[in-house]
Amino acid sequence: MSLCLCGEILPFTQLQTELDARKAQGLLRSRRTLTTPQSPHIVVDGQPYLAFCSNDYLGLANHPQLIAALQQGVQQWGVGAGAAHLVSGHFSAHHQLEQQLAAFVGKPAALLFSTGYMANLGVVQALVGKGDTVFADKLNHASLNDAMLLSRAETKRYRHGDMEQLAHLLGQTKIGRKLIITDAVFSMDGDIAPLRELLALCEQHDAWLYVDDAHGFGVLGEQGRGALAHFGIMSQRIIYMATLSKAAGVSGAFVAAEQVVINTLVNHAHSYVYTTATPPALSVALSQSLQLIAQGDGLRMHLQRLIAQLRKGLSDLPWQLMVSGTAIQPLLIGENRQALQLSEGLRARGIWVAAIRPPTVPQGTARLRITLSAAHSAQDVDQLIGALHELAC
Ligand SMILES: *Cc1c(COP(=O)(O)O)cnc(C)c1O
Repeated sequence: MSLCLCGEILPFTQLQTELDARKAQGLLRSRRTLTTPQSPHIVVDGQPYLAFCSNDYLGLANHPQLIAALQQGVQQWGVGAGAAHLVSGHFSAHHQLEQQLAAFVGKPAALLFSTGYMANLGVVQALVGKGDTVFADKLNHASLNDAMLLSRAETKRYRHGDMEQLAHLLGQTKIGRKLIITDAVFSMDGDIAPLRELLALCEQHDAWLYVDDAHGFGVLGEQGRGALAHFGIMSQRIIYMATLSKAAGVSGAFVAAEQVVINTLVNHAHSYVYTTATPPALSVALSQSLQLIAQGDGLRMHLQRLIAQLRKGLSDLPWQLMVSGTAIQPLLIGENRQALQLSEGLRARGIWVAAIRPPTVPQGTARLRITLSAAHSAQDVDQLIGALHELAC
């Protein structure tokens, strides 16, 4: 048995000092372990909780029909894909799902990725490079920020939702390809990007629009078709991405666009080419999930009612809910330690809501990120409202 004398090895001491500094600022992160499936009612480290922090917006992550579909998929396809898509890992289960997804969001073609994070890295890196420019909302998801850096394109970040500043930046850029990238629903704020205005700017400046609809797909628009359906917009200039790990309840992501874009990704997106395909059984489960999403108007209506109930119930607190009509309902607290204290106060009352702190959100805007799911009941939401009022006293 070897003993790690971490204290005596300089690089380890440095790491520990950095972690200690984080802790002193109320920024140290750690994990808690669930021992039950994802749902509003979970057991964490042996304690039962009512949880408001998953992205399982339709309550599909543990749905009996998806469990059955995955089991059937494993029976048919086994467990692993065994190779990358371009070698021998592209199965008809993947292929069918891609066609279903493209049709569902109204695009000619779609491509599956292993995760949303990898889709973002791959798309931006494949479509732009040195000499090109990426324009990005300052509150975009971390994976989009990483994608810009990886692409080596010039990056210009505009203030959240500021179309005037974006127009100005676009006007300054005379050479190279232009790609605007944005979250459709901002993951830590819950507000929706002005996609119509963004598309108009793209047309004016001959740019592409890359829309990351991680939190809109399955939730927004007719039949849950996502943010583009929500606004009723369609354009060849839009490259659409959604994760299959949030409302869809499984894992993975897809990009939907013109065929020439998809062909480019197949050839140039490193996070597509140099990785093993997802297990084909997941695609079987996802085809079933897509059906549940399309038939899920009842779930989405229930979710909307819960959102309205929460906003009404929390309107008289000393802290304000941010402006959001989506399932992401952040309660703005401000100071890191107070956000943590509130999160701990809820936990003591058997309720789990994550405190989100910098660098995930800007300094001074620590918040409780409350997320609602169609799997919550009105009583669940009342319990949260009651607990927050107790903590406000
Ligand atoms: C969650 C998320 C991702 C990453 O998706 P994964 O499938 O979890 O890797 C990308 N973009 C946004 C806006 C997200 O919220």
